[in-house]
Amino acid sequence: MKKPRKPDIDTVGDHIAWSYANLARADAALQDESASYQRIHHIIRSKLFSGLKKGTMAMRSLYDDERIKMTAPKACCYCGSEDKLSVDHLIPRIRGGADDSDNLILACRACNSSKQGRDMLEWMKKKEAFPSILLLRRYLKLVARYCDDNDLLSIALSDALQRDLPFDLSLLPHVFPPLAELSLWVCPPDAHPLKPQVASRPPT
Ligand SMILES: [Zn+2]
Repeated sequence: MKKPRKPDIDTVGDHIAWSYANLARADAALQDESASYQRIHHIIRSKLFSGLKKGTMAMRSLYDDERIKMTAPKACCYCGSEDKLSVDHLIPRIRGGADDSDNLILACRACNSSKQGRDMLEWMKKKEAFPSILLLRRYLKLVARYCDDNDLLSIALSDALQRDLPFDLSLLPHVFPPLAELSLWVCPPDAHPLKPQVASRPPT
């Protein structure tokens, strides 16, 4: 079968949009409980990407993510553990992450001490893990907001990669693990329409 063509990625905005569009495709397939990507999921991805590029569509606000966070049971956003929880900065404070509630999540002691001041994607890559869809969505929105606030969205990706940013743009995923290895959320609330999922690789 012909593989869908990867679009041209020139700017920081394109790079984030393609990652976000791939995330939306995975989200849609998981919500549909589909074992593989269907045509509709590819269409969601391409429409969202071109809409974000043209400015006719926008990433949804962090409001939904906040709502989920407030109604979710108390558990670590990385592994689902309920043990010794504390607040973690998704984009580390030491690297310029804000103290806003958007940037704050719950993490267990094991994840917190393992991650420390590292970027979430950098830390997960080292552990050969992949974040849940909802956690990554929040992260991408924070990255997009930072880039927007700092006029980075329209600059060339190659230039931005040379800069010292609070996150590593090169780690934003364009290719996702197979659907069977992805989870929407480590521990969704009962009231939430998502199926309960356990992180595929709990930290040791
Ligand atoms: Zn944890």
